[in-house]
Amino acid sequence: MTEHTSYDVLIVGAGHGGAQAAIALRQRKFAGSIALLGDEPELPYERPPLSKEYLAGDKPFERILIRPAAFWTEREITLLPGRTVVSVDPAGHRVITADGATIGYGTLIWATGGSPRRMSCEGHDLRGVHGVRTRADVERMMAELPQVTRAIVVGGGYIGLEAAAVLTKLGKHVTVLEAAPRVLARVAGEALSHFYEAEHRAHGVDLRTGVTVDSIVGQEGTVAGVRLADGTVLPGELVIVGIGIIPAVGPLIAAGAAGGNGVDTDALCRTTLPDIFAIGDCAAHANSFADGAKIRLESVQNANDQATTVAKLLTGEEHPYEAVPWFWSNQYDLKLQTVGLSTGYDATVVRGDMAARSFSVIYLKQGRVIALDCVNATRDYVQGRALVLARAVVDPASLADASVPLKEMLGA
Ligand code: FAD
Repeated sequence: MTEHTSYDVLIVGAGHGGAQAAIALRQRKFAGSIALLGDEPELPYERPPLSKEYLAGDKPFERILIRPAAFWTEREITLLPGRTVVSVDPAGHRVITADGATIGYGTLIWATGGSPRRMSCEGHDLRGVHGVRTRADVERMMAELPQVTRAIVVGGGYIGLEAAAVLTKLGKHVTVLEAAPRVLARVAGEALSHFYEAEHRAHGVDLRTGVTVDSIVGQEGTVAGVRLADGTVLPGELVIVGIGIIPAVGPLIAAGAAGGNGVDTDALCRTTLPDIFAIGDCAAHANSFADGAKIRLESVQNANDQATTVAKLLTGEEHPYEAVPWFWSNQYDLKLQTVGLSTGYDATVVRGDMAARSFSVIYLKQGRVIALDCVNATRDYVQGRALVLARAVVDPASLADASVPLKEMLGA
């Protein structure tokens, strides 16, 4: 494929959102030129398996590609891998890349995700300290694994817990360190947090909450352990840092886009700069499932649906982004499926049997269903979506009665 100096649509970031934007544009018969530029060397691939099947060695890289190589060629989508945009000139409708190229655009779609937040303490840059965001991160980690007996995961969010589950399955002794009083505190209620804490402990993970890391200890440039604030040193040959991401919006903000924690977008994913959209993890938007609060969502659903919103707009269909948030996480043999956003809940109902490892936590706000976390309970997840969409008012005792399907509670 030829590399032009200008494209009708230039997409920066070839991850979930960027790839889906290109796919959706062609699906909708967009006839102009499209380039998908990204700083990673690979074809666009799925990120969720990086802390799951790919890390476990259960899936080869080819099986996590978003589309095979031929797909992009056949649809005349120009891939520009291994390229980093360092500045944006909104008036000139062009970007500049780290290798000095200038690429023009009619429309720019910014889909850059974010980079793993690093620790700021001593030892954060030792060999053996890893983030989990890219294939390269995971490849580096996997190459070290044969020499690793003890792994320490800093951060009890989904990515950290998934990595802990995989490493445990691979026979490593795993410690999880979480600063908050419980794991998953940012995204889930107490019942779910405590369930996952118990599961990890039952699998042999040394899971500690309410602990602060003082520093990462090294020996000849390589990690040897983690020192806690109380002076305890936990020995380990590998450290995984899963403490969130920093949205990659520097060039856009420098170009004058409004934003801070992400770049601000409206309901059509437009930034405040002309002909520049932002989608996915890096896009701050007012989400109706968060009562209109401005948030960034870090999920495949959000990246894909925002990409589709932009593709629709560019092909003449104006549909504000208003998709129901959903998410999943796999740990051990537990399949968690989440629908809605639980932020701001004031009551929870547990439905099903936690001891049998098949249940749902239903989140209510002022009596209305706002979200469900379903563990090995796909039927609740599927049927609960309608309750979230309707923000249904359902008697908590009925919600708790697992013998009655959730679909029968809508309008009951
Ligand atoms: P990304 O997919 O991150 O793509 C952004 C791309 O832009 C990257 O390739 C980046 O390197 C590139 N880039 C950044 N800056 C520049 C620049 N200046 N120039 C060029 N390229 C640039 N979500 C779920 O829904 N379910 C899950 O189970 C789940 N598990 C996850 C597990 C892991 C380990 C990770 C890391 C994420 C997981 N997520 C999951 C989140 C999900 O992967 C993200 O929400 C999704 O990838 C966001 O898509 P995006 O297009 O916004 O960003």
